[in-house]
Amino acid sequence: MENIPIKMPIFESGTVWIVGAGPGDPGLLSLLALYGIQNADVIVYDALVGEEILLFAKENAELEYAGKRGGRPSPKQQDITNRLVVLARDKKRVLRLKGGDPFVFGRGAEECLRLAKENITFRIVPGITAGIGGLAYAGIPMTTRGTNSAVTFITGHNASGEVPDDINWQALADGSPVLIFFMGMAHINRIADELREAGRPDKEPVAIICKATTPKQQVLISTLQNCAADVASSDLIPPALIVIGEIVNFSEELDWLSNE
Ligand code: SAH
Repeated sequence: MENIPIKMPIFESGTVWIVGAGPGDPGLLSLLALYGIQNADVIVYDALVGEEILLFAKENAELEYAGKRGGRPSPKQQDITNRLVVLARDKKRVLRLKGGDPFVFGRGAEECLRLAKENITFRIVPGITAGIGGLAYAGIPMTTRGTNSAVTFITGHNASGEVPDDINWQALADGSPVLIFFMGMAHINRIADELREAGRPDKEPVAIICKATTPKQQVLISTLQNCAADVASSDLIPPALIVIGEIVNFSEELDWLSNE
């Protein structure tokens, strides 16, 4: 890359880079991600990848969409993985672009395991997960010394779209002062009820951060007791994170984005 004075790894033909695109703002791409995108022959990208990011692809790069669109079912994970194998065998420089970080609720591991099995060389380029970048863009610190010494990321959604059965609500309520739910919007009612039942206070602050780091970002501040009703009467559209914990209170003073 001309204007980045550091040595980048060679993106060899017939290899796959599994790259995190960050939560949306193209400025949050890593240098390595940008370099990979600029040099890929084929980019297989997901629904949550910011559109502007694809503008960095080289002119003749093929852009293949592998996400859910217009209510149609998303391609099966196995089909996507097969496609990566075919493209790599075809001696392309293949870049698999995923929203946020590929290893955070992103099924990146499944793709890598298959590539490993097929003896296809791959590289993993981490991205800024929405679970971190989204909070920063809402003015919510992940930790402060006064509020929390731990953070937990949880998926609100299993393969069949339900709240996972193996969530230990009591352990979460007791053990993690800050809870960050991915894919939880559809089940916010259940999530809030479970946590209240397990002893979290009704008045505990909750932030719903939608389309974080994009020009359409919206943040709703509520409480555990009211958040489900507040979401229902809002026009918030996923993707969204649900952030539960005292750290949410900081957004009042630290919401730099709305004050820009
Ligand atoms: N690998 C991704 C997460 C994929 S799971 C990452 O590291 O960020 C998809 C979920 O991520 C969404 O349902 C939502 O909870 C969250 N998410 C992804 N991008 C988001 C964004 N821009 N704003 C808010 N939430 C986002």
